[in-house]
Amino acid sequence: MENGAPAWKFRGDEGLFAASDITVRSILYQLMANLDAGDGRAMVPLGHGPAAEDAVVDALRSAKFNCYGPTVGILPARRAIADYLSRDLPYKLSPDDVHLTVGCTQAIEAILTVLARPGANILLPRPGYPYYDARAKHSHLETRSFDLLPDKGWEVDLKGVEDLADESTVAVVINNPGNPYGNVYSYQHLKKVAETARKLGIMVIADEVYGHLAFGDTPFVPMGVFGSIAPVLTLGSISKRWIAPGWRLGWLVTNDPNGFLKDTGAADICSGKIQEIPCITCPKKPGGGMSVMVKLNLSSLEGIKDDMEFCIKLAKEESVIVLPGIGFGMKNWLRVTFAVEPFSLQDGLGRIKAFYERHAKR
Ligand SMILES: *Cc1c(COP(=O)(O)O)cnc(C)c1O
Repeated sequence: MENGAPAWKFRGDEGLFAASDITVRSILYQLMANLDAGDGRAMVPLGHGPAAEDAVVDALRSAKFNCYGPTVGILPARRAIADYLSRDLPYKLSPDDVHLTVGCTQAIEAILTVLARPGANILLPRPGYPYYDARAKHSHLETRSFDLLPDKGWEVDLKGVEDLADESTVAVVINNPGNPYGNVYSYQHLKKVAETARKLGIMVIADEVYGHLAFGDTPFVPMGVFGSIAPVLTLGSISKRWIAPGWRLGWLVTNDPNGFLKDTGAADICSGKIQEIPCITCPKKPGGGMSVMVKLNLSSLEGIKDDMEFCIKLAKEESVIVLPGIGFGMKNWLRVTFAVEPFSLQDGLGRIKAFYERHAKR
């Protein structure tokens, strides 16, 4: 001990360092660092979510909200959200049913903190959104992963959920439309999830961060519809509902008076183009959300050992960012975001094809 001073009594938690290593953002920054500054072409971001600015600027300029607000959110905002969500439910939500947070990230933080009593565990989907794992560790809440079934449209392995649950299980998380896999669950399947939760006596945390984001004739059923079977807590994110100016990909447009979705065929472009690239396969065409999971066939490639290496080389050689499956608990898969202009999507997938052709096993 230097100068006889006592040792520091605080220190970082090793487990947490490891958990926070794998987040969407950390992997994204790692890939961006590999971009080739000398590549004259524009980078195609097939790894990110969208950005928004106009609505924020309008709210600031209106000078109506320059005040200290209540912790749970201002009443007009909570009322608007309650009314909006009630359109799809068999009952009416009140503003008191709504708790506003700083993004879905803070909502996850709040609910996991509340649920984390000593010895408790929570069931998480695999593939899934990685923040749940990191945040649960932070609260000493044990996590157990159940599989989503790629061959069944990424449905929940309900038997797996039942096998994992025990007396200390408090909740099961589902994500619909799904990030990273872009699937939209049927009414029947969601009902079965609620019935399973009822049987186990646990809560359903429905991460419906994209809300209504279903394409074409895929019907979106909110999990809240099944609130009479089991308690359902729905998390949503405004950030993924706003869109960049001029963008028309099937997102909920906030200034659209009917709140209708516009489907410009991003999902079709994605599944069509992916079929032309032999090293990746898509088990199911996305029905909503903003991304799709594709399986990487490493045996068709020369000198690429895993999904991370594929993504790093792709960033370097083609200035295209896609995320490796390891970030979502699925080694040797890739997550491709289609939340970009159709032109960029075509361009990006075309570059992945060129990348494949250069690295294909002869
Ligand atoms: C993006 C995302 C979040 C985090 O939402 P923010 O509003 O960006 O904090 C949570 N869950 C899922 C499934 C997501 O895709």
